Order: sequence, then structure tokens, then C-alpha cells
Amino acid sequence: MSTDPRSVAPAPDAARRPFREAIIDLDAIERNVRTLADRVAPAEVMAVVKANAYGHGAVEAARAALAGGATRLGVADLDEALELRAAGIEAPILAWLHDPVADFAHALDAEVEIGVSSLEQLERVASAADSARVARVHLKVDTGLSRNGIPEAGWSMAVARAAGLERAGRIYVVGIFSHFANTSRDVDEAQLAVFERALAAAADAGLRPSTRHLASSEQAIRDPRARYDAVRIGIGMYGLTPFGDGTTCTDLGLTPAMTLRTRVATVRRVAPGTGASYGHIWHADRATTLALVPLGYADGIPRHASGGGAEVLLAGARRPVVGRVAMDQFIVDVGDAAVDAGDEVVVFGDPATGAPTADEWAEASGTIGYEIVTRIGPRVTRSYVGGRPPGPPPARDGA
Ligand SMILES: *Cc1c(COP(=O)(O)O)cnc(C)c1O
Repeated sequence: MSTDPRSVAPAPDAARRPFREAIIDLDAIERNVRTLADRVAPAEVMAVVKANAYGHGAVEAARAALAGGATRLGVADLDEALELRAAGIEAPILAWLHDPVADFAHALDAEVEIGVSSLEQLERVASAADSARVARVHLKVDTGLSRNGIPEAGWSMAVARAAGLERAGRIYVVGIFSHFANTSRDVDEAQLAVFERALAAAADAGLRPSTRHLASSEQAIRDPRARYDAVRIGIGMYGLTPFGDGTTCTDLGLTPAMTLRTRVATVRRVAPGTGASYGHIWHADRATTLALVPLGYADGIPRHASGGGAEVLLAGARRPVVGRVAMDQFIVDVGDAAVDAGDEVVVFGDPATGAPTADEWAEASGTIGYEIVTRIGPRVTRSYVGGRPPGPPPARDGA
């Protein structure tokens, strides 16, 4: 699809590519969503595009997800929802984490659905609503994560008040939802049971939410009982694994959508015993060639990857990162390989190309793939390949 003449951003030639670049494959996002949507059907897919779509670009990723069969979008806060609306995206959008002084009226004008996590929030949303501007809400219940859902002790009052406001035509309860703590199968099991109690409490109060949702990527993939009417898919749509047990993206049939690449800045030959980078935590144990890669922790390369076994794809092979990762640069030991300044370095990407994955970088740095892609810094240019244009194809010259 990247050869489609209507591609949103044709990739420049390799030599003319930006110095530091995150290439986002929108077709990979579309395919990943389709793979996951097929797996969870008939449950709907809400594509989670918070935090600039985990660093992939919110608007572009949202469009690709909708093309892949997602029917809803999820974000953390209202500003993220409004950004999608401003770009002309019309699909239902749910925002669930609110500033205590958030402007719900503005959100209702933009037809953003609101996740409500307390009675106070429910009142504030309802007071921003009127008969011409009914608030579409999803009640968020806590089932064990202890973050921002309504705790069980507050359910009966919250669902009674929500039902009253619904009868009064101020709000419409579209959904009821919760979030797993991703702790263990036993905790998942307990959370499912608590969610069932919340659904029963809502039903007892006369609420009939059509969109009950509990699972994010991990449980959506693994447990059919957690799918209800919709699942909220974040990491899986970007082609990374939600699992901490060694299950890879390849095992799941998913393709990492982000490739982080740059060019070797300089190379140098060093003698055995040479120490390299801050603190000399690494010394050459033989004569070898070091390639300097112009990406550092300012660009999202974790300093914790220093000495952790991370690798890059360079000159046709995976090569070890050595020494300490600095703010702007890190060093790769290429041995006796013929490597020159200007050669392409792929830090992470699609494993089918031989590149390490963001998940492998996470493993080498004691974190999760989510953090690796989300933390890419502002010096890195984002480019897009694949995807579909937002509207009808542009008219051709002379047509
Ligand atoms: C971020 C988030 C998700 C997406 O989780 P993934 O593991 O990335 O699929 C779903 N629901 C909520 C409430 C979230 O905050």
C-alpha cells in the first residue's frame, strides 16, 4: 500500500530522509486493527489514541484504525478528543480522565462522550447539559485498579442519580466500563466478578447501557468473557505486545507500526582496552569499530538500556549497543564490519525486516514497549507511509 499514489506522505529517498526519523506505517495500524477486530467480533473495537496515539500521531492513527474496522476512539482527556474533532474525525470519541475544572460544555458541543468517575463529575457533566445538548456518558466503575473509577460503595448512589438524570433527558448513559490491573489471572477473575456486580447494579437502577466495556488489549486478545460489547485496544493496534510473558507481536500476528531510524554520525577504530562513553562502563575487549548513533535519551532512547543488551540493525546485521546512552548519542560495536558514516541505523521496527522490536528495547531497559514508543522526543521527525487520504481522492491535474 505504500506505493499507492494517494499515500498521505510519500517517503523521501533514503539519503534525503530526516536525520532522526520515526516512520509510522499506517497500513500496519489498519491491518493490526482488522486482525484484532476479527478476533473480538462481535464486540466493537474502540481504538485508544491517547498520548498522541502512543507517539504515533493521534489523527493519522485514528484514521487508520477506523479504516481497519474500529468503530469508536478512546482518549484520556478532553483536549485529545477535541484535537480529533478539529481534524474532522466524526466517530464516537470517549474521554475518561478529566481536569477538575474541565470544560464539559465545550466537550458536549463537540459531541465527545464523557467517562464519568464520580458523583461530582456526573453532576458537573449534567449541569453542562441541556435538552438540546444531552451528555453521552460512560460510567466508570472501579473493579480493583484503584485509580479513577467509582468505588463499589458509591455505585448505588451513582447509578440511581444517573438513571434520574437520564429520565430527565439531561444525560444518556451509553456505556459502563472499567479497567484491568493487569496483575494476574486471579485478579482478572476477581475484577470480572466485580464488573458483573456493577452491571447488575446499573440494571437494577433502570440503566440499559448498550456499550459495556472492560478489556484493553491483553484481555481482549486472551479472554472472550472480557469482551462484552466493546474492547479498548491501544498497544495492539500499534503492533506491540500487551503481554509480559514473552508472547511477541509476531506470535499475535501484529506488525509494529513505528520504525525509529537515523544515520551513523561517525565511525572510529579503537584499540583493545579502550573505554567508551560516560563512566567507561564498557571497554573494547579487542580491536573493533565503533559507530556513533545520533539518538539519545532526549529522543527517547532509555538511558536504562545502557549495558542491557539492546541492539540495532546496521549494515545488514543486529549489532550491540555498548557503553552508556547519552542525551544525544549512543555507541554501537560493529566489530570488523564495513560501516561508514551515513549508513542507515534502524533502532527498532518490524522484526520481519531484521530489526529489533520496541518490545526488545523495553526488555533491555526494564520497561514496557508502551513507554519506548510513547517517549520518542521532539527532535525526531515523524513521517507516514501508507494510509488513505482523509476525503475523496484529490482531483488530478487537468481533470
Ligand atoms: C490506555 C488505556 C487502554 C489501552 O490499553 P492497552 O493495553 O494499550 O490496550 C484502555 N483503557 C484505558 C482506560 C486506558 O487508560
